[in-house]
Amino acid sequence: MNILLLGGGGREHALAWKLAQSPRLSTLYAAPGNPGIAQHATLVDLDATDHRAVLDFCTRHSIALVVIGPEAPLVDGLADNLRTMGVAVFGPDKKPAQLEGSKGFTKDLCQRANIPTAGYIRVTSKDGAIAALDDFTLPVVIKADGLAAGKGVIIAETRQEALDALDTMFSGAFGKAGEEVVLEEFMTGEEASFFALTDGSAILPFGSAQDHKRVGDGDTGPNTGGMGAYSPARVLTPELEAQVIERIIKPTVETLAAEGMPYSGVLYAGLMLTEEGPKLIEYNARFGDPECQVLMMRFDGDLVELLLAVAEGRLAEQGPVALADRTALTIVMAANGYPGTPEKGGAITGIDAAEAQGARVFHAGTAEKDGAIVANGGRVLNVTATGDTVGAAQAAAYAAVDAIDFPTGFCRRDIGWREVAREAQ
Ligand code: ATP
Repeated sequence: MNILLLGGGGREHALAWKLAQSPRLSTLYAAPGNPGIAQHATLVDLDATDHRAVLDFCTRHSIALVVIGPEAPLVDGLADNLRTMGVAVFGPDKKPAQLEGSKGFTKDLCQRANIPTAGYIRVTSKDGAIAALDDFTLPVVIKADGLAAGKGVIIAETRQEALDALDTMFSGAFGKAGEEVVLEEFMTGEEASFFALTDGSAILPFGSAQDHKRVGDGDTGPNTGGMGAYSPARVLTPELEAQVIERIIKPTVETLAAEGMPYSGVLYAGLMLTEEGPKLIEYNARFGDPECQVLMMRFDGDLVELLLAVAEGRLAEQGPVALADRTALTIVMAANGYPGTPEKGGAITGIDAAEAQGARVFHAGTAEKDGAIVANGGRVLNVTATGDTVGAAQAAAYAAVDAIDFPTGFCRRDIGWREVAREAQ
């Protein structure tokens, strides 16, 4: 069968790599793709915001499944339009994608379904927000309601910081995303991510991961889209995982279905492991990037079959997701300047040498120039390896990083440190 994959980051390279291994695949098309994805797919010039063009493409190329990688097309309702035209699609409709598209939507759902999460208030004006501040102790968490590429969250330690944050939010700095703001109680604990496939009724766990958001070693410096990740996150024990499914994932899926907006796709729960048990920080409506890369490194099944089962509402027929017990760890190599303005065009060599060691190098922001790979974005490569322990996977991934020559790039040298420290105890 023919499949269209939308997106062009490391997440989509990992998905393309796995989709291409399925005997069920005839041709994989990808838009916009990247040079790594091009190893497995035919790249096509297709604008995902032009729903008509995507539909036409699906008809012309007999596309049996569309896999939507990033969140923007989901929140924009592309999945709805494809489904209406009878095209199977992996990814939720616009309404349930509000789980990612609107933090207020998710908080209200948690309240209705009694899902453990931080206490909150939704506000639509600065004055209202200032008045509501008195209901919170410090630090207080202030979030723009809509999509803000990970930059719409401020943790204010003092009242003045909170007032400054509200000034920024209501100044229009986040556009539509900041027209509404959510104030949240600050939760303490370790963070972990949990993934589950659902077709709106059946639920299949797809493993856990931990990522590193800060740009610098020791989790310092500004936030990024993620500088590395590993899976599984062993801090999320089987007992805690069972709690997450029972108290968070199930009520989410059931409530959305009961309210007439069934969720089909992958639910990515950002969790805080508090003393009172796991609590939901946020939902994303797609696989994480770079978490997807480590999940795909552990996945031993047929991804076409699995994603199609989700899209066609046949998930209940599937056995447990085939995830190897080994640890996978990925290191993001970024271009100098990231997360500010990244330096473009820097030459990269040594990817083959890194892969010859057994690692996989997923392309994110790369381009091909005169037959060579150059940097073309902030996060450029995801160097991914596996091992029996996080320490072993980390050593293998850094050995592969060291085989790559990317003079205008950098990476963190401590991805996985929390778990490596625990293993050493
Ligand atoms: P991203 O897209 O980068 O995952 P986001 O912008 O959608 O993030 P959240 O995940 O809700 O926003 O928050 C980002 C980070 O802020 C969290 O990973 C967590 O570290 C911190 N955070 C958010 N809410 C809380 C909270 N209530 N208590 C403590 N920390 C929080």
